[in-house]
Amino acid sequence: MLKVTLLGTGGTQPLPERALAAAAVSVGGHNILLDCGEGTQVGLRRYGVSAYRLSAVLLTHYHGDHILGLPGLLQTLGSLNRTEPLTIYGPRGIEAVSRAIMALAGPQAYPVRWQQADAPFTVNELQITPFPLTHRVPCCGYALALPRAGKFDPARARAAGIPIEYWGTLQKGETVGGFTPEQVLGAPRRGLKVVYATDSRPCPAIVDAARDADLLCMDATYADDADLDKAKLYGHATCRETGETAAAAQVRRLWLTHYSAAVSDTAPGLAAARAACPAAVAGYDGLTEELEFDKT
Ligand SMILES: [Zn+2]
Ligand SMILES: [Zn+2]
Repeated sequence: MLKVTLLGTGGTQPLPERALAAAAVSVGGHNILLDCGEGTQVGLRRYGVSAYRLSAVLLTHYHGDHILGLPGLLQTLGSLNRTEPLTIYGPRGIEAVSRAIMALAGPQAYPVRWQQADAPFTVNELQITPFPLTHRVPCCGYALALPRAGKFDPARARAAGIPIEYWGTLQKGETVGGFTPEQVLGAPRRGLKVVYATDSRPCPAIVDAARDADLLCMDATYADDADLDKAKLYGHATCRETGETAAAAQVRRLWLTHYSAAVSDTAPGLAAARAACPAAVAGYDGLTEELEFDKT
């Protein structure tokens, strides 16, 4: 099971009911934070995502609306007596940003590691693939995949003479007692994939990364195509474009996020996105869903 929670769905300026960009992905009791705009700590508390169980932070880019919640969050983790290292990933330019953020956060008793996200990496069970977005500054989206092992075959386990006490370990994909999971597991099954892509113009990299995803959370800054010129100028998408991108990727769900502060009613933008992608949902602070493996 993989749980996704939108903590902040605004872009540029926060509103009373809409904090700036942040989302949490939770697996196995651990949380990964995507972006950390102003208000992220309030969102973590309000929507029940434990900062104490934070495994990593993935930054898309270094515009203030995506990172200004970081110094306070790092201080809070210190006050929670964190001792384990925290790794913060982001696109190129991370060294300068790390200096600025740490100057504000002050020295911490736990190590804060800053890592340029230019290759796939893993955090706990999640396989994370950064990919380039099309914004005004270096910016990357993230595909977070939870793999699923093949089906356990008890007949094969018995035929191979594998003691029953090893079965559970092999089922988890681990080798034990000289036996390997390949001896008893079928082909890997469809896992879960969540893709976070903001800020960006629509681009082929999003379609590729989000293909067949369970959920795409994507930049939907402008509700109306009348703002298309602005979207192109500032490196964002209109809701129509976001819906078309999701449809091209054949995602199962689309959550619109990163709304302009000028968007007070999300319904027209949702309708524009649904023209191409009926599975679109208007994101809001606190929107959450638990994604489950297919029943096969
Ligand atoms: Zn932004
Ligand atoms: Zn931006």
